Amino acid sequence: MARANAAYYAARNPFADFITAPEICQGFGEVLGLWAAIVWQNMGRPAPVVLAEAGPGRGTLMQDALRAIAAAAPDFRAALAVHLVETSPRLRDAQRTRIPDAVWHGDIASLPAGPMILLANEFLDALPIRQFVRTKAGWNEHFVQDGAFVEQPAQIDIPLAAQPGEIVEICEPARAIVAHLAARPQTVCLFVDYGPEHSAPGDSLQALRDGRPAAPLAAPGTADLTAHVDFAALAHAAQMGGAAVYGPVPQGVFLAQIGLPARIDRLARRAPPAQAMRLIAGARRLMEPHAMGRLFKTFAICNGALPPPPGFDPA
Ligand code: SAH
Repeated sequence: MARANAAYYAARNPFADFITAPEICQGFGEVLGLWAAIVWQNMGRPAPVVLAEAGPGRGTLMQDALRAIAAAAPDFRAALAVHLVETSPRLRDAQRTRIPDAVWHGDIASLPAGPMILLANEFLDALPIRQFVRTKAGWNEHFVQDGAFVEQPAQIDIPLAAQPGEIVEICEPARAIVAHLAARPQTVCLFVDYGPEHSAPGDSLQALRDGRPAAPLAAPGTADLTAHVDFAALAHAAQMGGAAVYGPVPQGVFLAQIGLPARIDRLARRAPPAQAMRLIAGARRLMEPHAMGRLFKTFAICNGALPPPPGFDPA
């Protein structure tokens, strides 16, 4: 999965195969930018501060966020430096056209020390998983050989109840990234991704090609491979690293709490009718439970004695 996705993101235009929240509605990146501005206030307005994004795609989210920040929180805009974590040279080029003064990193670990706010939308789901199959005696691991899964006995202890034949997925890079970020002082991270609220067995590996589900093992490197994010496992990793954990909260609830509807309302009033319709339809798609509002979730980790970030206040 790691090699297939590295080839895929390096060579293809992923946005021909799937569409993401920032590409659906400009309000998404804008309210995430305003979210970051409030977190910066709560952190005591550190300057300089790193505003980072992991897996920024075309750079749309960060561009929208910076526009909203410049208008609503010019002090924050003046204090921040943009750092992007991106492995694909092709997507780095796309990001450079939108955010020319960013600094790029191939890995989370090379982000500069010091106060940091990090955003990541649909980043964790692209990281490689391992699949284990429950057997009567223990676990087998899935490997890929000649385009098909083969099972090999695995020496692993998985603390999750599963019936023989059921699959359990583990995403070690996601856990390592969250643990690393959780151990950084003065760091607040917001992850938006899809997955269940509680860890559960299930095969969630999926491939998208041209906007349609495809066979995950066919033609490696030509389809986008993703798996559900195991938020409970990431919460555990973050707590071990010493951070406070918030969520996961359904994306629709989070966006309502941080004011997307009011922002879209304001934008739509000033826009020509066709654009106003697009804004409203886009925001609905992000928020409605049967669209992206429930499957997608937001999850935050905070290192530092801070109040709950916006959108995660106890109701
Ligand atoms: N956040 C964007 C794009 C999501 S697609 C959006 O919402 O539109 C996943 C992104 O993560 C792409 O930019 C991809 O190149 C990047 N990516 C995938 N694996 C990565 C890795 N191991 N390290 C850094 N970036 C990675």
